[in-house]
Amino acid sequence: MNQMGQLQRNSELDQAISDAHARLEAAHPKSLARHISALDALPGGNTRAVIYYPPFPLAFTGGRGCRVTTLDGQELVDLVSEYSAALYGHSDPVIGAAQKSAIDAGLSLGAPNVMEADYAKALVQRFPAFERVRFCNSGTEANIMAISAARAVTGRPKIIAMKEGYHGGVLTFAHGGSPLNLPFPFEFAEYNDMEGTRALIRSTGNELAAVILEPMMGGGGCIPATREFLEMIREETRTAGALMILDEVMTSRLAFRGLHHVHGVTPDLLTMGKYLGGGASFGCFGGRADIMDNFDPARKHAFSHGGTFNNNPLSMAGGMAGFTKVLTEEASARVNSQGDSLRQELQALFDRHGILATVTGRGSLMNLHFVRGPIDNPAILDAADSRYLSLFHAEMLLRGFYVAPRGMMALSIPFGDSERNAFLEAVDDLLTVSGHLFPKAS
Ligand code: PMP
Repeated sequence: MNQMGQLQRNSELDQAISDAHARLEAAHPKSLARHISALDALPGGNTRAVIYYPPFPLAFTGGRGCRVTTLDGQELVDLVSEYSAALYGHSDPVIGAAQKSAIDAGLSLGAPNVMEADYAKALVQRFPAFERVRFCNSGTEANIMAISAARAVTGRPKIIAMKEGYHGGVLTFAHGGSPLNLPFPFEFAEYNDMEGTRALIRSTGNELAAVILEPMMGGGGCIPATREFLEMIREETRTAGALMILDEVMTSRLAFRGLHHVHGVTPDLLTMGKYLGGGASFGCFGGRADIMDNFDPARKHAFSHGGTFNNNPLSMAGGMAGFTKVLTEEASARVNSQGDSLRQELQALFDRHGILATVTGRGSLMNLHFVRGPIDNPAILDAADSRYLSLFHAEMLLRGFYVAPRGMMALSIPFGDSERNAFLEAVDDLLTVSGHLFPKAS
C-alpha cells in the first residue's frame, strides 16, 4: 500500500475505535458515571491495573455460569473468566454452598481449621510436583515465597526469569520491567531460546538460586514453552545446583494434573493460585519435601511464613469444593478441548477473511495477536499495532462478548457449544463489516 493509502487506513482505524468507544459510552451510562465517581478516591478510578481499559471499564454487578451482567443491565458472554481464575464460571452452586457453610460456621478463627489439611492433601495427590504445600493469599505471594525460599535454601542470590514474563504485581517483566519490582538480582532469558538460556544458566553458575518460568506464558501472550525448553531448564538447573520454579498460577487449569505433568517435567518448587480459591483470594506454593520442610515451625531455624489469611475458611472451603467436586477429570478435559477447537476455529475464521492474525494458546487459554505466526517468543509481538486489539475488544463488547483488551480469552467450565457458536458468528460479523480495518494476510 502506498503512503497515502496507509495514512487513510490509519485514520479510518482511529475513527473506528473512537466510534466504538462512543457507542460503548452511550450503551453504558451507569458504568461511565461509576467510573467518574471512582476517580475521587481511586487513582484513575482503578484498584487493579489489568481491569482498566480506555475509555472506561464496564462495571459488572454479577455473574452466573459463563455470563456476567453489566451495571447497565447488559448480559455478556464472559471469555475473560477473571483472567483465568473463574474456571468454574460464576456462582457455581456447589462452591457457593461450601462457602456459605464456612461463613455460617464463622470466619477469622485464628487456628487451624478442619479444611486446610484435606485441601493440601488433595493438591499433593493431584499435582506431581507437590510433596508438600503451603497456602498464602495470591499468586504474587506464592512466587515471592518460592523465590525467597530458593534463595534461602541455596544460599545464592540470583534468579533467572523470562523477558516479558509475569509472576505478580512486583514481579512484572513486561516491557523492560516495572519500577515497583522487588529488588532481587534478576537475569533475563528469552522464552524458548534453548542455547541462550542454557548459556545464561551456565554462566550464572554458582550464583544462581533458581530459574522461574511458566510452562506457557499467560500474561505474556499465551505462548507455550516447548517440552525441550522445559526439559533443558530442568537438567541445567539440576547440574548448576539451582532450583527450577514453575509458575502454574494460570496454566495448572490446562490439564487435570497440571501442565508440568503433561510435559513430564517436575520442578523443585511449583506455584499456583487463581481458580484454586474457588472465587476467593488464594495462592499456594510447594514442592520437594526436603525444601518445604524448612517451613516446619517445630524445626530449629525454621523459615517463618506468616499470613493472617493463609488458611482462611472461605478460600479453603470454596477452593476445596471447586477442586474436588467441580473440576472432575472429565470437566477438565472438556473445557480444554472446547478451547482447542475454539482456537482452531478462530484461526480459520481470520484466515478465511484474509486477515493477518495468529491465535496462540493451549486448551482453555488463548490469545489473539495481529501478527504473523508462528509465535514462540513474546519479542515477536513487538511488531503488533495495539489498535487492532482495541477495536476488536470494543466491538466484541458491543456485540455482547467480553474478551480481554489484550486479546486474551479464558474459557470456563460452563462455556458450551452455543456460546462458542455465537461468539464465532459475532467475530465473523465484525470481520464482514470491518475486516478492511484489520491487517491483511498478504
Ligand atoms: N503468576 C502468573 C502466571 C499469573 O498469571 C498471575 C496473575 N495474573 C500471578 C502470578 C499473580 O497472581 P495474583 O494476581 O493472584 O497475585
